[in-house]
Amino acid sequence: MSGEAPRRFALRGRILHAVGDPAERGEAAIEDIPDGLLRIAEGRIAALGDYGDLRHALEPGEPLIDLTGRILLPGLIDAHVHYPQTGVVAAHGRDLLDWLERHTFPAESAFADPEHAREAARFFLDELLRNGTTAAVVYCTVHPVSVDALCEEASARGMRIVAGKVMMDRGAPAALRDTAETGYRESAALIARWHGRGRIAYAVTPRFAVTSSEAQLEAAGALLREHPGVYLQTHLAEQRNEIATVLRLFPWAASYTEVYDRFGLLGPRSLLGHCIHLAEAELARLSASRSVAVLCPTSNTFLGSGLVDLDALRRPPRPVRLGLATDIGGGTSYSMFQTMAELHKVVRLAGQGIDPCGLFHLATLGNARALGLEREIGSLRPGCAADLVVVDPARRPALARRLAAGAEEGVSDLLLALAVLGDEQVVEATFVAGRPLYACPGSGVSVGQPPGR
Ligand SMILES: [Zn+2]
Repeated sequence: MSGEAPRRFALRGRILHAVGDPAERGEAAIEDIPDGLLRIAEGRIAALGDYGDLRHALEPGEPLIDLTGRILLPGLIDAHVHYPQTGVVAAHGRDLLDWLERHTFPAESAFADPEHAREAARFFLDELLRNGTTAAVVYCTVHPVSVDALCEEASARGMRIVAGKVMMDRGAPAALRDTAETGYRESAALIARWHGRGRIAYAVTPRFAVTSSEAQLEAAGALLREHPGVYLQTHLAEQRNEIATVLRLFPWAASYTEVYDRFGLLGPRSLLGHCIHLAEAELARLSASRSVAVLCPTSNTFLGSGLVDLDALRRPPRPVRLGLATDIGGGTSYSMFQTMAELHKVVRLAGQGIDPCGLFHLATLGNARALGLEREIGSLRPGCAADLVVVDPARRPALARRLAAGAEEGVSDLLLALAVLGDEQVVEATFVAGRPLYACPGSGVSVGQPPGR
């Protein structure tokens, strides 16, 4: 790791972040400071503004890293990702349920071994940082040691992580099943151990309705009631045969959404992955409960799940709150840039549109708001944690050329080009709470050499 946290330093570069929702404010929701200065103190953003205005405020000896030509973004946020699935990305299956049985369940079985879990957690978190992602909402496996391994490694890096043990008491191999009772007890113990410790928060994690009995969903609802402040994460309406299976398993339910609703699993801290095939009554219920639909576009195209109906999700007077995620390993890229690009494509294929500022907002401030963490992450506003990404377009010649050709274009065009032509190659460095935890070779930033005093 990078040693002592730097206390005070400043970065010079182009600053780009969302300060509002582009759906309400258009391009004005994106603050763009072409020659900006970002001052960081004690792991938080202390000030930002124009370099010419702010440079006089630098204290004598305050280190200044000149990143002219680079773009400083808030750390990207991934709102739904499975760390035990790093080894099954791009594995072939007929559909979701076949893919789970053939590839994912065998891979997750190995996480009973704490050493295996720890090695996977290290790889996963370092891969997030290499992609400029500093915060994530993460599924572990059914094994409590898989949560411990991830949370310990995330704590060592100071990353903002929401995570939980999968609850799964049917429809999976015996080695991956808990029971309603053990799933409840182990989750409660993990909440006591990890929720609110440093930058870790807990998410009660019934995998999806197919793999949880009514008794287990009841237990998940009880955990939410007994521990206000924890999150709920699960999957909803990803594929049509999955929905048919759920309606067969819960014959009293008129819809998939009603299953979760019956057990008290909807609410403002509920993160529901996918939400592709939903009826009007389900959309209305998600909106009224302020639940979050987490869009996972690279997963949806890879597994052939379908095209999310963004217009339906956003339709007034009952818009559904939204998040954006990679869904590794159903998803195919760790990069939130590539995830933004894929959302653009699936929305286009559905005959709809999302403006590029909206894409960028989702991956940053929008996801922070979905988590209720907008005071801490998602933007570079003073007071927020100094979680940020240094992007160097020159590291991807096709992107650099595109931006040079469009030098007179607005911020929307820049953001779409960055999403479509950007990936981990353009990430020069990633800071977490002011510590440089990743820097590519030849970068102006050094891991392990904090710039501050
Ligand atoms: Zn998922």
